[in-house]
Amino acid sequence: MRAVMFDAGNTLLHLDYPWLAAEARRLRRDFAPAPGDLGRAAARVGRTGWPTRDGAGRAIPFFQGYFGAIAAQVGLGSEQAVSFAAAAREENLTDPRGLWRLCAPGAAATLASLAAKGLLIGVVSNADGRVESQLAAAGLRDNLLVVVDSHLTGVEKPDPRIFHLALEQLGVNAQDALFVGDLFDVDILGARTAGLHALLYDPWDAFADLSRGRIRSLAQLLDVISP
Ligand SMILES: [Mg+2]
Repeated sequence: MRAVMFDAGNTLLHLDYPWLAAEARRLRRDFAPAPGDLGRAAARVGRTGWPTRDGAGRAIPFFQGYFGAIAAQVGLGSEQAVSFAAAAREENLTDPRGLWRLCAPGAAATLASLAAKGLLIGVVSNADGRVESQLAAAGLRDNLLVVVDSHLTGVEKPDPRIFHLALEQLGVNAQDALFVGDLFDVDILGARTAGLHALLYDPWDAFADLSRGRIRSLAQLLDVISP
C-alpha cells in the first residue's frame, strides 16, 4: 500500500452532533436527544439513503432530503423536520467551517501516523468548494498531499474519474491505494469500481452485519495497514 485516501464528511469531519441535538431539542421541547442519537440517526440514513425525489418526481434538495430523514429518525414530526433541515442548511452556509466541523476522534493522530509510515494521504470529497479550508480549520490539512473537491472538479463520487484524478495527483496506481469512507454506495463501491481497495468507516455500527471491510475507528487503520 502506498496511499490512503479519505472521504471528508462524516469520515474525517463529523457532523456537529451536539449542535444538531440542541436544534432538535429547540424544535421539540418534550424530548432530549443526545448527540450520539443524532450520530446513529445520520449513520442509519447514510445506510438506507434519503429521499431525492418527491411524489411528483421533482428533485428534493440535498439538505431537505438528508436532514429531513435524520429528523424523522430521531422522532421529530414532519413540520419540525422541515425546520430542522432548513436550520441545518443555514448553519452550514453561514459558518465557514460548515456543519461537518467536528474532527473525527483520532483523525489528526491517525493522519500523522500514516504519514510517518511514508504513506501518501489525500481526500476525495463530494463537497461545495470549501472542503480544503474546512479541513485546514479542523487542523487536518497538514498531512494531506491532495484534496479533491467535487464542486471544483465537476465530477462526484461514485464516478471513478474523481478517484483517478486524486491518484494522478499522488502519482499512485489504484491497486496501491486504499480509500476510507462512510457511505457504502458512494465511497466503497465507487472506490472499488475505480480499482482501489476500500474500507467502510462505521463508528456508529450502522453496518454491524458487515463482517469484513469495516473499521469502527480511524486509529484501527494503523492495525489494518502493514508497516
Ligand atoms: Mg461521507
